Amino acid sequence: MNTALLLDRAATATPERTAVYLGAQPLLTYRELRDRVAALAAAMTDLGCAPGERVAIVMNNRPEYLEVLFATWWAGLAVVPVNAKLHPREVAWIVQDAGARLVVTDEEHVAGVVGASAGKPLLVADSAEYDALAGSRGAVTSPPRSMTPTDLAWLFYTSGTTGRPKGVMLGHRQLLALTLSYHAQIDNVGPDDRTLYAAPMSHGAGLYSPVFTLRGSGHVFPPSGRFDAAETCRISRALGRVSLFAAPTMVNRLVRHVTETEKGTGTSVKDTMAFRTIVYGGGPMYVDDLLRARDVLGDCLTQIYGQGESPMTITTLGRDVIADESHPGRQHRIAGVGTAFALCDVKVVDADGAQLPPGTTGEIVVRGDTVMLGYWHNPEATARTLHDGWLWTGDMGSLDEEGYLTLKDRSKDVIISGGTNIYPREVEEVLLQHPNVTEVSVIGKADPEWGEAVVACVVVDDSAVDAVQLDEFCRQHMTAFKRPRHYHFLDTLPKSDNGKVIKAVLRTAYSEPSPVSASAGRLPAQQKESP
Ligand code: AMP
Repeated sequence: MNTALLLDRAATATPERTAVYLGAQPLLTYRELRDRVAALAAAMTDLGCAPGERVAIVMNNRPEYLEVLFATWWAGLAVVPVNAKLHPREVAWIVQDAGARLVVTDEEHVAGVVGASAGKPLLVADSAEYDALAGSRGAVTSPPRSMTPTDLAWLFYTSGTTGRPKGVMLGHRQLLALTLSYHAQIDNVGPDDRTLYAAPMSHGAGLYSPVFTLRGSGHVFPPSGRFDAAETCRISRALGRVSLFAAPTMVNRLVRHVTETEKGTGTSVKDTMAFRTIVYGGGPMYVDDLLRARDVLGDCLTQIYGQGESPMTITTLGRDVIADESHPGRQHRIAGVGTAFALCDVKVVDADGAQLPPGTTGEIVVRGDTVMLGYWHNPEATARTLHDGWLWTGDMGSLDEEGYLTLKDRSKDVIISGGTNIYPREVEEVLLQHPNVTEVSVIGKADPEWGEAVVACVVVDDSAVDAVQLDEFCRQHMTAFKRPRHYHFLDTLPKSDNGKVIKAVLRTAYSEPSPVSASAGRLPAQQKESP
């Protein structure tokens, strides 16, 4: 079925209920949202989009984001939500690869997107034209287009270890399976609940939009269009029963903000109904941070482990397990990512796919209705990743006797900074373009603020080249958040017999949070921090 039917039904059942809030202010009822979505869907068809074609979205979180998601599905099209923080060149690559028929953006991003859209029709959300299209038809004229479960609904661009983003194909089945999984195992959210879009809608927060449509919940947009701890608290206190998806670094910021502002006031957000559930995931959450967050925010924290290829849904660690202080295995459990979602079959296997016994580390594989259809126009990558319906996640881990999964390491070398994936190869490729960089290897380093920070180990042919120059070069050639925060200048990179850089040696030497010791890695190092 078409995911847009969730909106149609909610609007029929509760037309006057508030669907969209801007801050704490009601903006649209479910009837108004449905009418605007249906009008936009008709406008997309008029603009030449045929069923099955793709609509790219490059903008901040704003009410129009929700409208465009549902309008695209309503018209029988697929969304391609692009991380709005990407460099215009990266956006251009995705728009081209997806073969997007239409690009929707906002004023803030339109300048960068014009080049990327290469003459494709462009719709600017905060323009009079957009508003005229959304408000043009009055009451709904045609229902959501009939779709099958395997029709493409969301093309999710995730980078591969090769550094080139791959399009993960999610059909309506995957979106509906993740929606039902949330209702069954996280919260059966209903009309009195609200979700706050604090994290980017191009990722987990947007994937949760059908979850909060199924039973007519509210969709709340922060006026800032991004995550701001003070704003999140203010809105949540005003509205109550707010749920949100947050990367671990966002949870930590929220905790710091609440701790600072509540000091000496005698009030506590955990005694209010401000937050119903904060779903955290997308990167590791340290146990100490989790316990502090529970102390400050209360029993509202639930973890999910997923990936674009099985969105938001592989395992979950519920608030009841986190709260069970008397359980002898609690420390071990809360250091992991919980147990399998009901719709997911989860195993840990060896390189041949044989299931490993509890306590043994291997690759995590998943099968079920949330698992992607495959990679867009990339049968080789699909064949490498899907075997007999099993998704090979690239994550290493172990299951215990009771089915609790612990992530050990990523077999891919992804660095997760602020909940966003950074692929070393992308950074390495940019640095190698510098005329004086002869070799480079990029690794991650634990960072209290961001989860992980990017570390570049470089070999240069001119000793005058320093971190400041390389940082300036990166600023010019890549998205700011992917820039290395630390540089190590080496005489040579450690390599195996067949010439491959041995990242494990670099990690031992340079990814510990403490300063590098003289003997670590036996690599003559001149350590410099980027400004
Ligand atoms: P993405 O495809 O961008 O959602 O990134 C998915 C990757 O993030 C997974 O393959 C894991 O390596 C990591 N990840 C996701 N959720 C968690 C979690 N709860 N704890 C630790 N790492 C996670």
